[in-house]
Amino acid sequence: MAELEAATVAYQAAVTPEAVAILKARGIERAEATGFRLGVVADPFPGHEKFRGFLSIPYLDHTGHPLSMRFRCLQEHVHRDFGHGKYMSLKDEPARVFNIGAIHRADDELHIAEGEFDSMILNKVGMPAIAIPGAQGWSSHHRRMVAGFSKVYVWGDPDEAGSEFIGKVTRAVRNAVGVRLLKADGDVTELYLKGGVAALRARKRGE
Ligand SMILES: [Zn+2]
Repeated sequence: MAELEAATVAYQAAVTPEAVAILKARGIERAEATGFRLGVVADPFPGHEKFRGFLSIPYLDHTGHPLSMRFRCLQEHVHRDFGHGKYMSLKDEPARVFNIGAIHRADDELHIAEGEFDSMILNKVGMPAIAIPGAQGWSSHHRRMVAGFSKVYVWGDPDEAGSEFIGKVTRAVRNAVGVRLLKADGDVTELYLKGGVAALRARKRGE
């Protein structure tokens, strides 16, 4: 884990104005990017060579230290043509929960998003959120982590995978309810960019 901490520090220090602009366009301000310890893989650590130039997204524990890391390509191209996905994980990493600190910080309501950036947006507007990346990321051992909240809101993308995600989590977790986004909303980030916190609150109320 010391190596992952060192990588996190190095990548944070390598954030470029271009990366800041891309994050800002997704509703993530500089202070939030710092809080989540986002960075840029300018000089890859061993095992990260494939992610050169990618955004680094550390999976922090509740004290802010990285347990794992994911990577997002910052190029606007067809990622498949370059032999990678838009999001990439470390080799042989188990599926982890992003932003578990939210579980410690949340009062009696917790939010679950499908993607890291969507959870950052929810956190920013005062809805403590974890993310289970990829609609297929939910596994039954996550149930225990989110038990004990009086309400758990599950934000799924308005597509088939999103419905499946909501279905899976709400079946597994008592007190979990799905927040249905409309096709016109897009995902959490897109809805926030269009309608701000008011739009998110309205969907949370089921409007
Ligand atoms: Zn790419």
